[in-house]
Amino acid sequence: MTDPQPQPTPSPRVALVTGSSRGLGRAMALSLARAGFSVAVHYGRNQAEAEKVAEEIRALGVPAQVFGADLSTPANASRLVEDVIKTMGRLDVLVNNAGITRDTLAIRMKDEDWQAVIDTNLGSAFAASRAAIKHMMRARAGRIINIASVVGLMGNPGQANYVASKAGLIGLTKALAKEYGGRGITVNAVAPGFIESDMTAGLPEEVQKTYLGGIPLGRFGQPEEVAALVTFLASDAAGYVTGQVIGVDGGLYPH
Ligand code: NAP
Repeated sequence: MTDPQPQPTPSPRVALVTGSSRGLGRAMALSLARAGFSVAVHYGRNQAEAEKVAEEIRALGVPAQVFGADLSTPANASRLVEDVIKTMGRLDVLVNNAGITRDTLAIRMKDEDWQAVIDTNLGSAFAASRAAIKHMMRARAGRIINIASVVGLMGNPGQANYVASKAGLIGLTKALAKEYGGRGITVNAVAPGFIESDMTAGLPEEVQKTYLGGIPLGRFGQPEEVAALVTFLASDAAGYVTGQVIGVDGGLYPH
């Protein structure tokens, strides 16, 4: 009888989280690292913050690398994905999280504020997904998780650009799930409600109070509560979940 051959240790799976220098993305990067993924930490402007996140991940004994790219231009999103694959050797999970708001009533909204939000939130998510899918198809496996928003489902005054971008992400999720399910790639959307972060800290107190009144759980969410769902969707346990939009909103908008 021959001795069993030693099996090569598979290289750890790699997850890219766009906009992981702070806020929800930072919590996702840390949570995925704790689940064993090597993490590509991405920033737009806050390189120093991204480096800190990567240090926190390395302190867990997990590899992390930092990548900068301005995602207001979708072509940069494709390049980001290609850079990550080249540097880290593979890409198993893409989380399209980076996002911005430029809130005002539709009649006052400037074309550039419409376009900046659509390009950053939706255009770059599409471009990153397309680049990732080309790679994931060869691996016959992959996970794409789009961070949408409850307002993409329910609408919100003063946010026509943001709502359209998030509703677009939900449509993109469903279309890609159908196109690439047969290639072993799952695509899901997470729709957070009101989560404490820099983005929501800037909202007027009145708006915060109105939201709180409509949340059955009676509190705002924490970034870690969104990160927990993202980490589940990235895991083997979520292998049969695709094309879904899952809320993390304290019951604000059951759908
Ligand atoms: P945040 O605190 O404002 O952080 C935004 C992240 O996106 C940062 O890491 C930022 O990177 C990155 N980013 C923004 N513009 C960029 C650009 N042009 N190029 C590259 N990166 C860019 O936001 P958050 O609250 O964590 O939100 C994260 C995601 O969750 C967003 O898509 C948001 O729409 C969604 N969401 C949030 C809530 C909420 O209540 N907070 C609710 C629903 C959905 P730098 O700082 O390095 O520039």
